[in-house]
Amino acid sequence: MLAVHLENGAVTVRDAPMPARPHGHALLRLLCGGICNTDLELQRGYYGFAGTPGHEFVAEVAEAEDRSLAGRRVVGEINLACMACEWCRQGLGRHCPNRTVLGIQGHAGAFSEFFSLPERNLHALDDAIPAGRAVFAEPLAAACEILEQVAIPPGDAVAVLGDGKLGLLAAMVLEAHGCRVRLFGHHERKLRIAAAAGVGCEIARGPLPTPVLPTAAYQWVVEATGSRDGLRAAVALCRPRGTVILKSTVHGEVPVDAAPIVVNEITLVGSRCGRLETALPLLAHNRIPVEEMIAARYPLREAVRAFEHAARPGTLKVLLEAGYAPSSVCLT
Ligand SMILES: [Zn+2]
Ligand SMILES: [Zn+2]
Repeated sequence: MLAVHLENGAVTVRDAPMPARPHGHALLRLLCGGICNTDLELQRGYYGFAGTPGHEFVAEVAEAEDRSLAGRRVVGEINLACMACEWCRQGLGRHCPNRTVLGIQGHAGAFSEFFSLPERNLHALDDAIPAGRAVFAEPLAAACEILEQVAIPPGDAVAVLGDGKLGLLAAMVLEAHGCRVRLFGHHERKLRIAAAAGVGCEIARGPLPTPVLPTAAYQWVVEATGSRDGLRAAVALCRPRGTVILKSTVHGEVPVDAAPIVVNEITLVGSRCGRLETALPLLAHNRIPVEEMIAARYPLREAVRAFEHAARPGTLKVLLEAGYAPSSVCLT
């Protein structure tokens, strides 16, 4: 079977052996994968990664212990939790210290014709949700996580900094929640996607990386710039006693001037992945126009070109599609 391999900055597509199916796991056949900024960071050496990446996926269940899953299209929770520790007992497997993570840490990823995940991680998809929409479940859940962590009242004004994939999703989720969202970005084409979903958008004036933004203007600021300078800009934008939600994972250190955070008593909230249960209804009801964010689709065997495309500045979501010929695959 074909599998994407990342190592020392290089993307290759290899012929790999079929993955084992550990007890409790389903064997999944990839239908569609999404290349995420995390995958590009892994390529740059984040986590010293070497292996098959991919954690945004839609797959078909090829084999499972739970017979009701057989043949179903699924998305899946990417953290493989131990289910025994204090965090797992609280239902916070995403913070399990013993976890592995699909395509990121210790578990081969989804950019492969076949891969495995625990059956308990899977969510069967409604047939009406096309794969090109469902593949956004994981990043959309990450955007929804903001509202799981911070109770932002509907009607409140929220600033979102950054018009990358996560910035757009966060802005549209908060807008759907009833917030008055202002999205600051640099790309008119991307801002148009959020504007069509009702988000108020503004081109951040001034030169990169520190555009001129309003000062102390928002009670709630979501930092999704993906840049080292995003935190400083977000803190400047936040009102005294306000909250900055940090979404960017930047490889390396982020410089912080703590004084304005202390003086203005700003709360910083780190925010990562979220629950698929929250994202799936938004996709089922097509509340968030995620498909507008698809920049290109490539067959899995052209993953090298797909990664090159995804890495071009300003590119939104690049999808990998596994067109397979079932007769050529032997499942034993
Ligand atoms: Zn991701
Ligand atoms: Zn655990």
